[in-house]
Formats: sequence, C-alpha cells, structure tokens
Amino acid sequence: MTSSTTTQQLPIGQVASQLGQTVTLVGWVDTKRDHGKLTFIDLRDRTGKLQCVGFQMMGELTTESVISVTGLVKERPAKLVNANVINGNIEFEVKAYEILNPAKELPILVEGDGREVSEEVRLRYRYLDLRRERMRNIVKLRSDYFRALREALYEQNFTEVETPMLTKSTKEGARDFVVPSRFQPGKFYALPQSPQQYKQLLMTAGVERYFQFARCIRDEDLRADRGFEFTQLDLELSFVERDDVMQTVESMVKSAVKAVGGKLKAETFPVVDYQDAMAKYGADRFDLRSEEDKANGVLAFAWVVNFPFFKQVDKADAAEVRDGKSGWTFTHNPFSAPLPEHQEMLLKGEQIGEILTTQYDLVCNGYEVGGGSIRAHRPELLAATFKVMGYSDEEIRDSVGHMLDAFEVGTPPHGGIALGLDRMVMLLAGETSLKEVIAFPMTASGRTAVMDAPSPVTDEQLAELHLKVINK
Ligand code: ASP
Repeated sequence: MTSSTTTQQLPIGQVASQLGQTVTLVGWVDTKRDHGKLTFIDLRDRTGKLQCVGFQMMGELTTESVISVTGLVKERPAKLVNANVINGNIEFEVKAYEILNPAKELPILVEGDGREVSEEVRLRYRYLDLRRERMRNIVKLRSDYFRALREALYEQNFTEVETPMLTKSTKEGARDFVVPSRFQPGKFYALPQSPQQYKQLLMTAGVERYFQFARCIRDEDLRADRGFEFTQLDLELSFVERDDVMQTVESMVKSAVKAVGGKLKAETFPVVDYQDAMAKYGADRFDLRSEEDKANGVLAFAWVVNFPFFKQVDKADAAEVRDGKSGWTFTHNPFSAPLPEHQEMLLKGEQIGEILTTQYDLVCNGYEVGGGSIRAHRPELLAATFKVMGYSDEEIRDSVGHMLDAFEVGTPPHGGIALGLDRMVMLLAGETSLKEVIAFPMTASGRTAVMDAPSPVTDEQLAELHLKVINK
C-alpha cells in the first residue's frame, strides 16, 4: 500500500494540529492559481480546504482532479492570515504530489449553489452537483438528522426491523408499482407503498416497539418537486392510545430537530381539530409561523386530529375509484380504527360521512410531515371498513385475509405513524424542493438521476418474464 491510499487519512479540517510536521494529504483540487514559479492550489476534502503552495510544480493540475500531496504544514505570514476560514492561519508547502485521478473539463461547475444549472444537467451529473458545498451540507444534515432520530428511538427501546420490498399491494391511496414474477407466469409483486401491514404484523409478533427508515414507492402523478420513491420513518407501538403515540413522536422529533440546530416555535405542539383547521385556515396543513419566524428559519409544528374516516370517491383518481367500490373510500388509512365512540357506526355501516378516524397528522410550516393512527386490531372492525368501501366478503378475504387471520391469534391494540423524512430535511435545510435533499432524485419526467431508466429490456428478458410489450 502506498502512502496515498492508507485508510487513516488526516482530514484537511484537522491539519492545523500538525503544525511544523511533514504529512500526506489527499483530496480534490478546488482552485488553482499560477504566479510565475509558484502554483497555489486549494485542496479540498469533506472536512475543509487548505492552501497548498508548490514551487516549480503542479502547473499541469486541473481543478477537481484527485491528488495526494506530501509536504510541510506551516504558519502563514501574518499579513496573509484569514481568520474567517478554516485553515486560514496555515498553508502547506508541497514537496511531492501524485495525481490519483485527473479531471477533464467539467460539464457543470462545482462552485456556487448550482441553481442556475438546469435540472436535467444537474441530475445527469449529480456526482458533480453533490460536490458543491450547499449540497454537501445537505447530505450531511440529512445523515445527522437520521442519526439523531435513531438515537432517540433506541433510547426509547424501539427495535429496528426491515420488511420486504417485493410484496403484495398495500393501500395507501396510490397506484402500485408492479414487478413480474419469473417463476409464476402472469403473477406480479407490488413494491411497498408503505410497510403498513408488515409493521402491524410485527405487533402481532410481539415486537411492541418497531421502527424502520422505510423506502416507499408510489406510482403517483409526478409533481415538480417529487419522484416515485421517498423515505419514511415508520413506527408502530403496541398497547398505546392516540395521545401516547403523539407524545412519543413529539419528544423524538423535538430532540432530533434540536440535535441538528433546528429552532422550534413551541415546545408543545398545538393540537388542532380538523374542522377547526378547515374553518380557520381552509386547509388541514397550515403554517403557524409569523413573518419573523419565517425570517429566522423557525419550525412550527402542529397536530391535526379528528378527521373524517371516509370520503366520496374522486372519479378522476384511478386509485380511489379502485379502492372505493361503493363510492366511499378512506381519507387516510383503511387500517385505522375509528374513534372509540364511532365504532358502532362503522360496524353497522351507518352515518358513514360522520365517522371520525383516530388519524393524527403532523404538520410543519404548511406541509404535512407525518401521519398515523390507532389501528383496527379486531377482525370485525377491519372487515367493516372494507365493507363500507363496497368489498364483498370474498374481496375482503382476498385483499386483507392475512390481516384478519392475524387479528384472531392475539394481536395487541396498537398504533403508529410514518414521518416523511425528505420533507423534514427540506424544511430543516431551508429548501423548497424535495429534490434538493435526496442524493439521487428523479427528473420531473420520471427518469433516474445519472443512469438512464426507465429503459427497454431485451426480448430474452421479456420472454423469461412471460411478457409482451404491445405498442399502442
Ligand atoms: N402507512 C401510513 C402512510 O404511509 C402511515 C401510518 O399510518 O403509519 O401514510
């Protein structure tokens, strides 16, 4: 192994600790300036930059090349000290260097905030786009926030469990992405719209406190700021009521937001009745910030409760039409329990429009950032929900029979929530598009970043999957 590839590299942000020493550093050529026989470069890694000076060398280096440099860490002459930047008091006298990977002319600039570059181009060269400081900070913020959430959850004795990606359709109100089965011609898996059913089955299994950073895939109409996949922090707890879940989540969110330097409008999140929200704000996601809060980057959370359980099907929405065979469909989640005092109405299938669900939504700065509910954990209650939506007994068995079975072998009362993490990171970062906080988001037309998908497959692959593409 050569010195340039040892695993214990000295981070550039810590070079000042080696004053007077000869060390080897690695990184990217951030900028280069030639002054006659002297060549100055700024060497950059994830932790900072350092001015490196070469005498009659380094002239051929191009910006964004990856190099290794060996040299002396020195104090800068007093008049050249820049107290405002990391390593502003030191410089590096290069003795030798090695080019590990030379960079050609770049298709996009890595400096600046990148907002002037078109989305197409930024996403095609996302690996370069992510080098810019703004994007590096967001990637780090996202990781720090996830870590803080995980730590809060472990502290509260949650267990992290993964659930399948190739599965059966679970209703979250969107179209499924389907995957053909090679072994079983004509049959398809669905990619999960959420781990909803599996997390409930984990409650049957006795896990009691579950979480997962879950990838969810929904074939929804694309909007400018989102693609087909997103990341949720998915939780489920046994032996809880609505307030228990809300309190647990509130304390976790508060500690994680504070851990990454977020500012909260209130220590206790207001709880707003759905009807009041509609009357007061005309929407169930609202912004409680003052102009001053907005200027200060404050996060204003609130809970919304007491939603109607069912709504009339929107005939323009294909998923709603499919789910709500009777003309009624669920507003949030068909696995929810109604408010205890509305159970009878649901069981009898009466006054459907008046039944309220145990759903609670978390909103922040005008966005919905989470939602969950106490679940139906008795088979008759879940079956009643599907009956309201017009499912026959056979159709109920076919879509949720496995849940009904599980609810007959000792399933504890339970409830949970899913928090939209992309959106939370977007708010924490002060961004307005989800794409800014996802490492490799989709383009507005549903193409993957960097790689070219969707793309055709070969005739052999189609044959193996027992599929034929019909050109309309
Ligand atoms: N599965 C629900 C969703 O993804 C959230 C929940 O009720 O836990 O919207």
